[in-house]
Amino acid sequence: MTISRIAGILLVTLLMTSEAIAQKIVIAHRGASGYLPEHTLPAKAMAYAMGAHYIEQDLVMTADDQLIVLHDITLDRTTDVARKFPNRARADGRYYAIDFTLAEIRQLVATEGFELEDGEPVQGFKNRFPMNRSSFAVPTFQEEIEMIQGLNVSTGQDIGIYPEIKQAAFHRAEGKDISTAVVDVLKQYGYTSKADKVFLQTFEYDELRTIKEEIFPAAGVDLNLVQLIGSAESYPWMFEAGGMSRLAELADGIGPSYNLIIDRSSTKGQLIDTGLVEQAHDAGLVVHPYTFRADTGMVPGYADDFEDLLNIHYFAAGVDGLFTDFPDRAVRFLESR
Ligand code: CA
Repeated sequence: MTISRIAGILLVTLLMTSEAIAQKIVIAHRGASGYLPEHTLPAKAMAYAMGAHYIEQDLVMTADDQLIVLHDITLDRTTDVARKFPNRARADGRYYAIDFTLAEIRQLVATEGFELEDGEPVQGFKNRFPMNRSSFAVPTFQEEIEMIQGLNVSTGQDIGIYPEIKQAAFHRAEGKDISTAVVDVLKQYGYTSKADKVFLQTFEYDELRTIKEEIFPAAGVDLNLVQLIGSAESYPWMFEAGGMSRLAELADGIGPSYNLIIDRSSTKGQLIDTGLVEQAHDAGLVVHPYTFRADTGMVPGYADDFEDLLNIHYFAAGVDGLFTDFPDRAVRFLESR
């Protein structure tokens, strides 16, 4: 073998290695939600500036069929709805976004998430952006797409979106086809094929099937679909032999809780890889687990620190990307490899 041939092989190997790493992605979970209130446009702009490859939107519908970017189907945890509209809760005491028009939701101030404890608001993540500070709003899906696409123009980058259809069955029971509305907006903004930088995600397999077999063909699009998986009990068949292949008939990837990849009973000396990544890869599915958080107490005991947790998943388990509230840390980690 000649020297140039050996050099060529070495070069290819190096290129493949750096390309394989370059392909690993960082998904900003609810934006840079570790630093600014989740799902606000500033949190999304910050995630963009931090170098996230994809930015996530959770989507729910308003009374007048508008799509807003909100994690819960209720407004309680992340807005001042209880103060602005005290008489609009349902019998369970919750304020459902679907009971409010977009004009009403525009009157709300968004905040870092909180829960009521003995009637007093208590911030969920104590060391994050203080609740009820500054002025934030609940954006529409279109407003967020326009901001990300606008940044793609002004920066020359091509950052993707990662929308999640929240509780489609609930929306259908309320008479709303949220998935068709989401796909229509995606199409309107130019997301029509698997080559476009969008992953559409849902926890509901029945909805995934409806989207793939009915809604995509009706709209004349075919986008990357991700099945979210909260636990092995959600859909036991997915974890049986051939389960991932069956899922791959509809989906392009899975978004499992990371506890389904490295078993939570793992210790520092002994990581227990469940084999899920290999099963998914063998079926041709990409794997994007959630949610990697650097807050105190949120890193499992089997990892030395947050970066070690990232390393275990990206490079020991071999995931293709991951959802994190701290996209800067994951971007920096990948760049350091
Ligand atoms: Ca989500």
